[in-house]
Amino acid sequence: MADNDVAAYDPQNIFAKMLKGEIPCHKIYEDGDTMAFLDIMPRTEGHTLVITKEPAVDLFAISAQGLDKLMAVVQKLAPQIKAAVGADGVMIQQFNGEAAGQTVLHLHVHIVPIKEGVPVKPHAGDMANADELAATAEKIKAVLKG
Ligand code: AMP
Repeated sequence: MADNDVAAYDPQNIFAKMLKGEIPCHKIYEDGDTMAFLDIMPRTEGHTLVITKEPAVDLFAISAQGLDKLMAVVQKLAPQIKAAVGADGVMIQQFNGEAAGQTVLHLHVHIVPIKEGVPVKPHAGDMANADELAATAEKIKAVLKG
């Protein structure tokens, strides 16, 4: 596939199913345009994915307005997630195309809180313990509630 070609959007992809409530996730935030939940294979504690409700495979398939909304939510959530887990910084990642490391073909942005001296695990590595994810989600939601 050429660089600028975008794969067809599959409405049965795993994130589309989460949006429809067909499979569970550790949701921390939702509005009319986006949803955020914990990554099941977190690189660090609090690793969150923000996804669009607009069906788009990647950054090049989303409308400009949809991208604005997505990034506004990333900007809003990242500092609060950072505070909730006591991190020192935040890495924002976004992959386009399988060659670039994208494994789920529904546009999403990774928010990865970073603590000084704590190693960052590999991308899409080990599955986290469900109870630990649930506890982290509660911590983050408490901060989001203010
Ligand atoms: P990417 O490689 O950028 O497409 O990232 C996809 C991410 O989705 C990876 O970090 C996976 O760990 C994560 N992921 C895959 N399945 C699930 C799931 N059921 N719940 C939460 N995160 C998931």
